[in-house]
Amino acid sequence: MRVFTASLATETNTFAPLFVDRSAFESAFYCPPGTHPETPTLCSAPIVAARRRAASEGYELVEGTATWAEPAGLVSREAYESLRDEILGQLQAALPVDIVLLGLHGSMVARDYDDCEGDLIARIRALAGPDCVIGAELDMHCHLTAQMVENADAIVAFKEFPHTDFLARAEDLLELCLKAARGQVKPVSAVFDCRGLAAFMTSREPGRSFVDRLMAMEGRDGILSISVAHGFQAADVADVGTKVLVIADGDGEKAAALAKQLGLEILRWGGGATPKHYKPEEGIAEAVKLAEPGRPVVLADRWDNPGGGVAGDSSVMVEALLKHPDVPAAIGAMWDPVAVSLCRAAGVGATIPLRFIGKAAPSSGRPIDAVVEVVGATGDLLIPFEQSWVSLGPAVAIRIGKLDIVLASTRAQTFSPPVFTDLGVDLASKTVVVVKSSNHFHAAFAPIAASVLYLDSGGPYPPDASKIPYTKVKRPFSPLDPNPWL
Ligand SMILES: [Zn+2]
Repeated sequence: MRVFTASLATETNTFAPLFVDRSAFESAFYCPPGTHPETPTLCSAPIVAARRRAASEGYELVEGTATWAEPAGLVSREAYESLRDEILGQLQAALPVDIVLLGLHGSMVARDYDDCEGDLIARIRALAGPDCVIGAELDMHCHLTAQMVENADAIVAFKEFPHTDFLARAEDLLELCLKAARGQVKPVSAVFDCRGLAAFMTSREPGRSFVDRLMAMEGRDGILSISVAHGFQAADVADVGTKVLVIADGDGEKAAALAKQLGLEILRWGGGATPKHYKPEEGIAEAVKLAEPGRPVVLADRWDNPGGGVAGDSSVMVEALLKHPDVPAAIGAMWDPVAVSLCRAAGVGATIPLRFIGKAAPSSGRPIDAVVEVVGATGDLLIPFEQSWVSLGPAVAIRIGKLDIVLASTRAQTFSPPVFTDLGVDLASKTVVVVKSSNHFHAAFAPIAASVLYLDSGGPYPPDASKIPYTKVKRPFSPLDPNPWL
């Protein structure tokens, strides 16, 4: 048996003024064939999963390129086509293969390609032929399109948000594809389109119990796999929205019935699946109440999360914290490569005048001007996220009174406490810790937090889907229209 594997991924916020060319992939994560590290990245886990089982399962593995760009705005046509064609060329050279295993995201949008992954999978099908088993792992924040589902044999999305399961789901996908290639199962996919946005977190109820139930259903009664594509609302594409994908063994009607049942269940939660979001002042006040000695309250600045394709340099929460000089606080990581280079040149221990953050867009707020002390610096802030390592590039910690601020050169979300602690910021001494992350921070920060709260700092990520200027979405679509299923 021969297996080909490759990974091409990013998440495109079509409203963000941060454009992505090929160099954005090459500088973030770019591994030509055979050079992928031992540890997986968020979307390249199928490569690692396939490597680990090649010997025991007795297949020959051919690795193609693996690449990822930090979520941002529209991908250039040249970047997408050149990376796609690079992988297609590698596949062509590897043919014939029995399985193609892809690590994708599912919400990559390039100029003239609203559905990059659908285009890629369709071209792979055309090359590899009808008998090849094509499997793809997607991030749950994907636009699950008909083009993807029709051209793949098996699609498996992450189930957990925070995404603690990217490697586990890659292993599920590999197992399913191996069984299909050996004729032990016949995967048939059905999708229920919720006709709206119904995302949820699995770090809290009702999402937690729901996903536990999904996992208990898999492998029983002919149900091979269940994925909830939550969707990614910051994208003006026709297929935006939440969908449920069920893969059954040979029984399309059974798959469709279960997908509909689960989709309706999610829709009926309505706003009940969403945690309370605090305005900046309200969040700080609540955190001061809830903090315990040695245990800060973690506030998630969800709408300035680089993982959602925005800059991560909004000054809204820094301005709010500066109004409370008596509250020991930390905030990070914020994107400002120019300020980082100025601080590193000044050196740790220096006190300097600095203009920082609030620069990428009007929605980032105003830049901050302050006299700051440089309290920590590194040539590469490398932090763990589950089984992967994420680089934030050269970074510094600066101090204004009791407020410590981490500035980084590379946009990446605040996955884990080393964003602060590796630069000498003592989180146990803080009352408030603000992280630039939507929910991926949760697994690593919850153990050190007295409480975790979510902020509504107003943007720049578009938090209110009813106000997003969609032009392409298929209607009806809630919350723009009443949901047709309810
Ligand atoms: Zn995601």
